Amino acid sequence: MGAQNKMLEEIIEIKGKQKGPTSVIIAGIHGNEACGQKAFQEILPKLKIEKGRVFFIYGNPQALKNKKRFINHDLNRLFKDGRTLSRQEKISYEYQRVLIIKKYLKKATALLDIHASQTPRSKPFIICEPKSYKLAACLPTDTIISGFDKFEPGGTDYFMNRLGKNGVCLECGYTGDISATKIAETGIINFLKTTGHLSRKVKTQNKKYFKVSSLYRTKTKKFRLTKNFQDFEIIKAGQIIGIDGSEKIIANQNGLILFARKRDLIGAEAFLLIKTASR
Ligand SMILES: [Zn+2]
Repeated sequence: MGAQNKMLEEIIEIKGKQKGPTSVIIAGIHGNEACGQKAFQEILPKLKIEKGRVFFIYGNPQALKNKKRFINHDLNRLFKDGRTLSRQEKISYEYQRVLIIKKYLKKATALLDIHASQTPRSKPFIICEPKSYKLAACLPTDTIISGFDKFEPGGTDYFMNRLGKNGVCLECGYTGDISATKIAETGIINFLKTTGHLSRKVKTQNKKYFKVSSLYRTKTKKFRLTKNFQDFEIIKAGQIIGIDGSEKIIANQNGLILFARKRDLIGAEAFLLIKTASR
């Protein structure tokens, strides 16, 4: 009951005694990724911010309650200019959340948004653009992927990037692993140190850099993968990734695959290919 009540508070502001920056940390933009919510419940009752203020936001409370990715629309694709969204998207529950969360993002200079994967054994990684590499250096994983703004626009980090601010997403690994919550907790504390809300120093970790090179969107209502791909599995040019209706979908270049999923909708995000990138 206690945990449930806390969850429904939705936005928790913690202020320090000293002046400092404003940051936002979001958990549960996708309701089936519980690690951020669990990390909040572990950290927030004891947390003392020294400088500035931090807004801790439960991104999609209804979806969290229902343990679903979303209720009407993927919340993490709706942080675009409202004029580019459909009427259906704008009457969704998620768009109400967008309008609320945007107000806090506008006040902040930095964002940490916490996610997890539905694929067992997924490894953690960071999503951000090069201008946030310095901020991301504190997060507890060695892998950074850029280029999402181009292929999957409308995330919270996309919105921050558009405002010229820092937005970083931490993918904490498989949602069913306890380690995902631990990574979320370490990520939150290290982010608070790096942004100056906590005065303690944080050790940074060397990173490997990748960039999204293509996104495959389905053309039919039936997309099936030729196998269960692990995130970061090596793909060779010419390899058959899946069957879309009756068409074989072939990788057009060497790379690594990410977020490969079977799909039952036209225009759905079916998989991403990524390539190694230099800093
Ligand atoms: Zn997510």
